[in-house]
Amino acid sequence: MSTIRTVEQISNFINGEWVEPTSGNYTEVFNPATGEEIGKVPISGFEEIDSAVKSAELAFKEWRRVAVPKRARMLFKYQQLLIENREELAEIITLENGKTFDDATGEVQRGIECVEFAAGAPTLMMGEHLPDIATGIESGMYRYPIGVVGGIAPFNFPMMVPCWMFPLAIACGNTFILKPSEKTPLLANRLAEIFKEAGLPDGVLNIVHGSNDVVNGILEHEKIKAVSFVGSQPVAKYIYQTAAANGKRVQALAGAKNHSIVLEDADLDNAVSNITAAAFGSAGQRCMAASVVVAVGDVADKLTERLKQAADNVVIGDGADKASFLGPVIRKEQKQRTLDYIETGLEEGATLLRDGREDKKDSDGYFVGATIFDHVRTDMKIWEDEMFAPVLSVVRVNTIDEAIEVANASEFANGACLYTDSAKAIRTFREEIDSGMLGINLGVPAPMAFFPFSGYKNSFYGDLHANGKDGVQFYTRKKMVTARY
Ligand code: NAD
Repeated sequence: MSTIRTVEQISNFINGEWVEPTSGNYTEVFNPATGEEIGKVPISGFEEIDSAVKSAELAFKEWRRVAVPKRARMLFKYQQLLIENREELAEIITLENGKTFDDATGEVQRGIECVEFAAGAPTLMMGEHLPDIATGIESGMYRYPIGVVGGIAPFNFPMMVPCWMFPLAIACGNTFILKPSEKTPLLANRLAEIFKEAGLPDGVLNIVHGSNDVVNGILEHEKIKAVSFVGSQPVAKYIYQTAAANGKRVQALAGAKNHSIVLEDADLDNAVSNITAAAFGSAGQRCMAASVVVAVGDVADKLTERLKQAADNVVIGDGADKASFLGPVIRKEQKQRTLDYIETGLEEGATLLRDGREDKKDSDGYFVGATIFDHVRTDMKIWEDEMFAPVLSVVRVNTIDEAIEVANASEFANGACLYTDSAKAIRTFREEIDSGMLGINLGVPAPMAFFPFSGYKNSFYGDLHANGKDGVQFYTRKKMVTARY
């Protein structure tokens, strides 16, 4: 069991040491299910970033020269230790994020899979050669690490998202500075602690806690060569523009509004259970959450009736209670924002099919029950905005073409799902939908670590997506060597 959970004052992790911020500034971390304070997280500044960069730069000199298979063996060791600590990691996620223990366990598994993928570095980092570009002359491409990399993470996946970043970056020979969300800082420290236990040298992974000042420090520090960001759309755009203006390589994964299209021939049992899990699981706080259902033709009445029944049966409660299906949203402000959106939906004329406002209303936790709006239109804010809450909007249309048009009208383009048995409809959907990650007859089509993860439009700023070969390309630079013998 980690010591971190009992330490009220959370520390930064720089050069393999747990250190206090020089400013001495902290802010509270809450358990969203109870509203209780569970820790104090440092609000660090440029000084801490500079100190982390110095440690990462020094470590890079050695780490980049460690043989790639040796780096990979450390990742294997890390993977084993993460497996051994799976339950404790899931408990920390539930404590600080509020998602249910089942959801948290799934997230831990996703994180472990990223480490497994990164352990394939010897193959992933291979270059390419052509022995005869001219008589007696050969040419080859070699992959090298890029140096110190910065990663900025959101609150909704305290393990999976950082694991998209630092294991692969480090396996590729880089050193890393992670800025976790100040709302969910505990898990990141435990991840660093376990990596150290696996033998990671000091300075290869550093964690600097804080908020905007730390982010700006990462964006401005000239020694940081690349920035991986995952978070909300306005911040992602700012990160992309600022990091690029400062000459850094950048990938910025942003918000979403994922549409699930249900056709008349869909297996409704499957569609309803998948949409319910994808809309209300993790309290709707997933970038792959099903936030809009587009019901095509006559399926709408049957579907909405079934969705309401399923939402009525959703068990709301503290994620630490194994019976709970729907936990709290992250903060009091996010709960208020959700309640305001429900008011907006009513003012806009949508039909409130299920009202989650009364569920666990008197709790000190930040609960909002499963909420469904029917007869939503694309001129409504509740359709347009990412609410990041357990609120599902149903739009009714007559054809699959209209349904695709609705989904494609969104400013976001992360994921989309289709429920049908028709191969022709599946092909039409695949060809015409303007989203990066598609699901057929399933709810959360999050690609596994060996595939790239992200979308288009305002859901992503940059070129190379997270994970997969894109991730390897992002965390390496190429040298071309042409030689005559
Ligand atoms: P957020 O943008 O508020 O915060 C993300 C990170 O940016 C945090 O570390 C935070 O400290 C920092 N930050 C916030 N505001 C900042 C500012 N003004 N200047 C500098 N730094 C700032 O996001 P969040 O609320 O933590 O996470 C939820 C969002 O993340 C949702 O929009 C969700 O869709 C998105 N997300 C996207 C993906 C994806 O793959 N596309 C995955 C997970 C989450």
